[in-house]
Amino acid sequence: MKTVYTFGGNAPHDDPRQKDKTVTGGKGANLAEMASIGLPVPPGFTITTEVSVQHLNGEDIRPQLEDKVADALAHIEQTVGKTFGDAADPLLVSVRSGARVSMPGMMDTVLNLGLNDETVAGLAKVSGDERFAWDSYRRFIQMYADVVLGLDHGLFEEALEIAKEDKGFYADTEMEADDWKTLVAEYKQIVQDELGEPFPADPLDQLWGAIIAVFASWDSERAKIYRRLNDIPANWGTAVNVQAMVFGNMGDTSATGVAFTRDPATGERAYYGEYLINAQGEDVVAGIRTPQYLTRAAREAAGAKPLSMEEALPDAYGELARVFDLLERHYKDMQDIEFTVQQGTLWMLQTRTGKRTAKAALKMAVDMVEEGLIDEEAAIRRVDPMALDQLLHPTLDPDAERDVLTSGLPASPGAASGKIVLDADTAETWAQRGDKVILVRVETSPEDIHGMHAAQGILTARGGMTSHAAVVARGMGRPCVSGASGVSIDVKARTLRIGGRELKEGDTLTLDGGNGQVMAGEVPTIEPELAGDFGTLMEWADKHRRMRVRTNAETPEDCRMARQFGAEGIGLCRTEHMFFDAERISAVRQMILAEDEKGRRKALEKLLPEQRKDFHEIFEVMVGLPCTIRLLDPPLHEFLPHGDTEFEELADATGYGVDHLKRRAEELHEFNPMLGHRGCRLGITFPEIYEMQARAIFEAACDVRKESGEAPLPEIMIPLVATKRELELLKALVDRTAKTVFEEKGLEVDYLVGTMIELPRAALMAGEIAEEGAFFSFGTNDLTQTTLGVSRDDSARFLAPYVEKGIFARDPFVSLDIDGVGQLVEMAAERGRATRPDIKLGICGEHGGDPASIGFCEKVGLDYVSASPYRVPIARLAAAQAAL
Ligand code: ADP
Ligand code: MG
Ligand code: MG
Repeated sequence: MKTVYTFGGNAPHDDPRQKDKTVTGGKGANLAEMASIGLPVPPGFTITTEVSVQHLNGEDIRPQLEDKVADALAHIEQTVGKTFGDAADPLLVSVRSGARVSMPGMMDTVLNLGLNDETVAGLAKVSGDERFAWDSYRRFIQMYADVVLGLDHGLFEEALEIAKEDKGFYADTEMEADDWKTLVAEYKQIVQDELGEPFPADPLDQLWGAIIAVFASWDSERAKIYRRLNDIPANWGTAVNVQAMVFGNMGDTSATGVAFTRDPATGERAYYGEYLINAQGEDVVAGIRTPQYLTRAAREAAGAKPLSMEEALPDAYGELARVFDLLERHYKDMQDIEFTVQQGTLWMLQTRTGKRTAKAALKMAVDMVEEGLIDEEAAIRRVDPMALDQLLHPTLDPDAERDVLTSGLPASPGAASGKIVLDADTAETWAQRGDKVILVRVETSPEDIHGMHAAQGILTARGGMTSHAAVVARGMGRPCVSGASGVSIDVKARTLRIGGRELKEGDTLTLDGGNGQVMAGEVPTIEPELAGDFGTLMEWADKHRRMRVRTNAETPEDCRMARQFGAEGIGLCRTEHMFFDAERISAVRQMILAEDEKGRRKALEKLLPEQRKDFHEIFEVMVGLPCTIRLLDPPLHEFLPHGDTEFEELADATGYGVDHLKRRAEELHEFNPMLGHRGCRLGITFPEIYEMQARAIFEAACDVRKESGEAPLPEIMIPLVATKRELELLKALVDRTAKTVFEEKGLEVDYLVGTMIELPRAALMAGEIAEEGAFFSFGTNDLTQTTLGVSRDDSARFLAPYVEKGIFARDPFVSLDIDGVGQLVEMAAERGRATRPDIKLGICGEHGGDPASIGFCEKVGLDYVSASPYRVPIARLAAAQAAL
């Protein structure tokens, strides 16, 4: 199998493996792709990810690669007409990482490789620019020392700062050739002092050192954290790209930049990016110099002075605009690119599908359908359902008072309020104890990602729209304001000044990622906009999905919200939540602690009108729609009074003595309530409870039908059934109650009685149970607990290590264990249908809002999924994607 692929020049690009990201990584595959469609790409070669995997396994990869690398290097040399290590006219290369998916800034790159005391002289001579040659050399030593030799880059930065100070310079660009020469000597001395050996001068040694180091960077700490947060498997490895250098640091007609073919924050169809004249590589994102705008329009809109690329380098800009169009038409998606202009000539160094905010993803998907670039199905596929979450949450109320402290760049949209924290570790600790936090940093680096993840929002004092903070925040969906120069931080004192005001860690701050404002205190928010592009995409999704989407809700407010979000019924209404209400709990306790049926009935009489009112309100919102209502499920144990005051209150209300009540409570105590006296076992032992609930449901349904002319469709669900007989008995009870109520009311409503499948036995016996039940709702929370023998509430301690060690791919309570629990669902669905072909099948566990689990539900042919209100749109889109 080929492990080294050349690209650019007259390299063949016809091996499909070369354009397969899993083989050559995203960067390598796209460099080959760009070269093959005739874009200007400096020649180079890619070592495949398969080699990286060998390296991860501890193999020495150099022997098998040596000849191949030599041949590939010859390809570069022939294409550019320079020789690697040639003292007269040296070829320089970059050595770049490139995993299957982009991991911005997580792994390492070395530029200007091939320089030493001899070749630097050749470079100076050929270019006619000594300063450029020595600038490149010092950059090389610093990067190589950091990435390959593992030395602290601070040592080099400090030496540079001192050199500039000595000269009274402010910017790197003021340094002359001789200044760089002196600094290079110092850099080499630092290496000698730190390592006890000289900086490697042989270009081939340099090359192999860099190749191995880039492979090794796959397992750096920050790369590991990034992988964990983004669900990237540890065994993918990275490709290594070696590419001829082009130079953006060759004077005023040279530049380097990063750009997006559309605005990644808003989705607007406008070129978007930043560039720097006479600069190289990471200068743009490093925040050392303030990058300039790409387009004149953007510069003018920002009221900035330094010329945009469109104005300063019009020819190269024109070429870049042409490339943008070509790339979008080729990839049919927004591209995120890196480029360099060397003395007026444009070179493409990278392209990838650009990360974007949810808002931009929506807008681009809808726009591109209108532009004829993609079809509706592609648009549906393109938006990550989970990202919709960002759009469904509130934004700042435009009419609310804002105590604006300062403004920065609107780097990632959305509103966030929280307590100021000044470092990533604090962000994590405070968030873990339940605080909402805003991470405030001078700028962020890859070491900060765990803190960014824990924070509601991110504020940085430095860095542009393409800075690390901005890119990562957009990817994570965290609001971010970057480059707020009015912020100065004193990490030692744990204080900060914003726009002249003193604040300290722990004070509350609000960020508006949409306009860059930073505000004191918490600003009120308003509900999201559900029309526009969101509405359009949802319409398309609804057209393409087969499964219905319902909601899990038990209050009229939640029901109303869910309907706004497009819910087509209730998949799970948990009646016990209604029992915990402060005014009712006393009646509930009376019922539980009653000695006999008579006592229970007395308490239930008080609860009946309350329950009826609950259902009445819900049914009003849900007329015409199916409403699955689960009868009382939790162990009675959960309702017991705690503490003397609660017992005393109850004694007053019931007339029983405190001692008597305590004794009853003790009798009811359970060792393992989850598997105890709960679910339909309550209905079997205390039928009057279920009878009261059924009565409340039917009375409310009849009343709503009378008032509005239309009824909801109650689907009465019996929980925790393991046997057909349980369901048979309880269905008979419900049917009897219905008959009585209908006679009393003089009218009828349609209804169904069914069960939750949440015990393995129920799944096994589904064929028989379906004789009694008109519907099954898969209660996958309990089904997961009972199948895995894992108590969800006690699993925190071992689940994370289980996921880390690869025992579970993901938390099985978040994403359905398709291999195991999934089998039970599939089998129960089949057996249920065999008995009752028109049986209604749905899922109401937490998994109903998880896209991967929804994909599974489509596969086994469920009729609907049910999710919490905010997840309804996510489920609609995921259901459409699953159906495509
Ligand atoms: P990352 O994956 O972190 O973006 P890259 O491999 O893309 O790292 O390298 C970072 C930057 O280095 C590029 O954006 C580009 O500016 C510069 N660079 C990389 N290779 C070359 C090259 N052959 N010529 C000039 N600049 C390069
Ligand atoms: Mg890059
Ligand atoms: Mg359950």
